[in-house]
Amino acid sequence: MNRSYRTSAHETDTAVELNPVFSRPGESTIFPRFTLPAGESLPSTAYQIVHDEAMLDGNSRLNLATFVGTWMEPEASRLYAETFDKNMIDKDEYPQTALIETRCWRMLADLWNAPDAEKAVGTSTIGSSEACMLGGLALKRRWQHARRAAGLPADTPNLVLSSAVQVCWEKFCNYWDVEARYVPISQEHPVLDGHDLDKYVDENTIGVVAIMGVTYTGAYEPVAAIAAALDEIQAQRGFDVPIHVDGASGGMVAPFLQPETSWDFRLPRVASINTSGHKYGLVYPGLGWIVWRDEDALPADLVFHVSYLGGDMSSFALNFSRPGAQVLLQYYLFLRLGFEGYRSVQATSRDVALYLSAEIGALEPFTLLSEGADIPVFAWRLTEGYTDKWNLHHLSERLRMNGWLVPAYPLPASLSEVTVQRIVVRNGFTRDLASSFLTDLKKEVAYLDSLLAPMPADGQTPAFHH
Ligand SMILES: *Cc1c(COP(=O)(O)O)cnc(C)c1O
Repeated sequence: MNRSYRTSAHETDTAVELNPVFSRPGESTIFPRFTLPAGESLPSTAYQIVHDEAMLDGNSRLNLATFVGTWMEPEASRLYAETFDKNMIDKDEYPQTALIETRCWRMLADLWNAPDAEKAVGTSTIGSSEACMLGGLALKRRWQHARRAAGLPADTPNLVLSSAVQVCWEKFCNYWDVEARYVPISQEHPVLDGHDLDKYVDENTIGVVAIMGVTYTGAYEPVAAIAAALDEIQAQRGFDVPIHVDGASGGMVAPFLQPETSWDFRLPRVASINTSGHKYGLVYPGLGWIVWRDEDALPADLVFHVSYLGGDMSSFALNFSRPGAQVLLQYYLFLRLGFEGYRSVQATSRDVALYLSAEIGALEPFTLLSEGADIPVFAWRLTEGYTDKWNLHHLSERLRMNGWLVPAYPLPASLSEVTVQRIVVRNGFTRDLASSFLTDLKKEVAYLDSLLAPMPADGQTPAFHH
């Protein structure tokens, strides 16, 4: 198991040194790395140390691995600087921020076609992971209430989901004692599509997770087909199983680029939807959203009423205190871009993704798994039989020498022998940058192809753990 959350492996030095030029005469230029320094230092000294360390992080513009926003325009940055002290939980002190939070999730409820936006309920979160925990907890509690009301045991809940779910769902099942029933993806069924669902669903199923924008490939799961399979199961066996849509990325893409696709509250079986404000919502990290269709979908006994900050504040969240500034940034963007602005930003990313995937797919070594037509994310594998001299891990290392971060990783269980490489096209990854990337990609492929002997077998970079 990776223990790097404890101490980064390369941190063997126990001291942080500072160039004496930056410190006051007589002030320490050596700071302990793992213990609290004994005394104070000047603000400028501490600043210089943290600034220099942070500079060693990668250049986010060249990071084609992450989904998370890394750029906002100057007005947004100004707003951020004016509001970074706001605490989201303190709705009594910051009632306006609380009102704006409500406006935002009501806009999302509308965007996701809630049949009665007055009845929808929602909240902001720190990210999609927290939102998914809340969505999962609501499914579990609702199932427990129904079981107990019918005089049936309610202690062995299960959740049905694709083997390609994001890790937050594995966490949900692990942390809240819910059995995860993974439907394995395969060549014939690369996403959860309702096929064979009957074998996984039973009276203890609290819900099915459908992903709009699978992390591995960017593909949408056909939520309508999953809902139809569940309709059939209800007709045959009587289980009324709700769907939670994990729209971490797609929740802010599909309404703009695929408005005709029915994946949201238009499907009566969809109980709740989450998205990441900091992915295609275009806000700095960390912001997530979740909306429930109506109060029936969110059992009231999960909602706490807190009075110690003044007033009577309802709260359904894992955190208590949490930054409120990102919520204001989301509202800024909703006003700034509107529907047409979001459509145009996402369409630009999609066009870059389609251009780049077409170019990469046309290269002999690569076979595409997706084109970036759903969310602007696509993945490819090495064409079978192309070479035994190098693999995608080697290519990923070579690209990193040019500054590009393009992870190579195995597909989940049952397809884990297939290694893929993925690009996430985000706002700011221009066609210009895309063609520089292509030039570097072709150069590195030519280099690897020109090797006289295979790369060492142990070339797999441990740098990406997904
Ligand atoms: C990114 C992602 C998550 C987790 O979202 P965070 O906002 O990073 O917590 C969950 N599900 C999917 C499908 C994702 O892509």
